[in-house]
Amino acid sequence: MRKLQMVDLKSQYDKIKTTVDASIQEVLDTTTYINGPKVHEFQKNLEEYLGVKHVIPCANGTDALQIAMMGLGLQPGDEVITADFTFAATVEVIALLQLTPVLVDVEMYNMNISLDAIKKAITPKTKAIVPVHLFGRAANMEAIMAIAKEHNLYVIEDNAQAIGANCKFSDGTKKKAGAIGHVGATSFFPSKNLGCYGDGGAIFTNDDELAHTIRGIVNHGMYVRYHHDVVGVNSRLDSIQAAVLNAKLPLLDQYNTARQNAARKYSAAFEGNENIIAPIICDVCDCHVFHQYTLRITNGKRDQLMEHLQVKQIPCAIYYPIPLHSQKAYADARYKEEDFPVTNQLVQEVISLPMHTELEDEQIKFITDSVLEFFNK
Ligand SMILES: *Cc1c(COP(=O)(O)O)cnc(C)c1O
Repeated sequence: MRKLQMVDLKSQYDKIKTTVDASIQEVLDTTTYINGPKVHEFQKNLEEYLGVKHVIPCANGTDALQIAMMGLGLQPGDEVITADFTFAATVEVIALLQLTPVLVDVEMYNMNISLDAIKKAITPKTKAIVPVHLFGRAANMEAIMAIAKEHNLYVIEDNAQAIGANCKFSDGTKKKAGAIGHVGATSFFPSKNLGCYGDGGAIFTNDDELAHTIRGIVNHGMYVRYHHDVVGVNSRLDSIQAAVLNAKLPLLDQYNTARQNAARKYSAAFEGNENIIAPIICDVCDCHVFHQYTLRITNGKRDQLMEHLQVKQIPCAIYYPIPLHSQKAYADARYKEEDFPVTNQLVQEVISLPMHTELEDEQIKFITDSVLEFFNK
């Protein structure tokens, strides 16, 4: 059996080496390392894949979120509502821009931002909502967009974990996660569903004016060379990373299907076990692309299960062990523990198993057998 890893990038690379290497070689041959034709080509290809008017590539997913917020012209003191149960990057950029982060609880069934909690948190100062499509599962964008419309708020999608996931609307249409809000942000960090071989990110929008503003912000606030109209940043996707992404984008759907198939096999093995709650697998809408396969362990023995798996050299991880509202950097007197019952429970119960595009049946069986063995001991 191949060595178990949370993410097996080497086995994936071995299969696509010829195309990826050729794509990188083109950049080396032309020495167009920054803003070369590969970046533009990837931008166009991603716009087409997502069905979004504008993709603006940038240096990483954290920058993408920050630049999206700068582009919307959010001002210090504006309140931005986001999920308490997510990676810190989401709240970090809100705080960095001197906006006021307002962390709210998530829903138990999909671990995404709670609609009721959003509604309760809205004040006259609220300017934006940042839903995170956590672990690859699209948040309920139709409902979130409706709340935003009613209260005249921006929606900034943190789509770092769910590129390729679909959101289904009640009229039957489907749209790609990240391309629904006023602006979306993603990351091409190597382990993400569409990962490059270094850092990378992108911002998406259907708004022409916002796209223009953001294109200037990523380039030092320049719209005309050496004319700096706004305070910008330097955030670029380099051409070598674009070359890798261009070679991998045509495989994204296939990669997401491989993740869904692995998830299905995991969940089939865990079915009926009273101590395990497996993630929902929806066969009709592709709303979950399994960036992570995350179980809830309900008998209070999550940490012992983790030790059991570690002894068997099965990698596993706790995403995320501490709610953001309990982090020193983001603590705020406004938060009360009773406002976060779901996050507080999830941090005690969740465990993520190896999830990537190259999982073999033999590996999945070894992992599921080992998990079940723990409960049958
Ligand atoms: C990975 C990630 C980011 C940040 O992306 P980087 O490219 O690492 O800066 C932001 N939000 C979420 C939810 C993520 O998972």
